[in-house]
Amino acid sequence: MTTGLHHPWLVLWDIDHTLLETRGLGSELYGRAFKTATGTEMKQQADVTGQTEPSIFNATLRLHGIAEDEHYLTRYKQALAEEYEHHREDLRRRGRALPGAEETLATLAAEPALIQSVLSGNLRAVSKTKLDVFELDKYLDLEVGAYGDDDPERPQLVAIAQERAHRKYGTPFSEANTVVVGDSTHDINTGLEGGARSIGIATGSDDIDTLREAGAGAVLRDLTDERAVLAALHRLIT
Ligand SMILES: [Mg+2]
Repeated sequence: MTTGLHHPWLVLWDIDHTLLETRGLGSELYGRAFKTATGTEMKQQADVTGQTEPSIFNATLRLHGIAEDEHYLTRYKQALAEEYEHHREDLRRRGRALPGAEETLATLAAEPALIQSVLSGNLRAVSKTKLDVFELDKYLDLEVGAYGDDDPERPQLVAIAQERAHRKYGTPFSEANTVVVGDSTHDINTGLEGGARSIGIATGSDDIDTLREAGAGAVLRDLTDERAVLAALHRLIT
């Protein structure tokens, strides 16, 4: 089954709770990187859902009464990337690709008109490690994605990915040919504010109705039916 689309489309995937789950390992590694960066034991982590790494880190600093500091952020980014690199085996063992994620990415990758990448609050390096561990990276063009290190405000990441894809593929990307896919209302809002259509996947903490009410163009329970994902894209695209 193909969409029969001839013009390039940009599909930008959220990572956590959309394609994969770290199942608790993420916050452990976060705590270790926080300690390395600041010398302070992390007692509490700021809300991570739909946020970018720099904003989570700065909010977590505030929870510990520590003033924002560019040096802390730089050290933290490096430490977190290293923690993920060192804990690849733990991630493989404890985490998982969500059911249907690989099949869906493979199905979409077979569509010649679709360019798939990511739009994630994760750091670029961490995104790469997570996707590589679960062997999902081969379906994605990570070069044209946008990441937490690109801008602390998630909606700003849409234009960054569109511009990267434009430069690489020669086609301008706008709200008319860009779709964000994610599990949280923040992903839907990213599409609305940033200039993209959106598909909600209810495998995170937001349910189908919540994602729909947030303004998603389509909502699916999960990724187990790759034809349903393709059909949803088709509805948004045509
Ligand atoms: Mg997510």
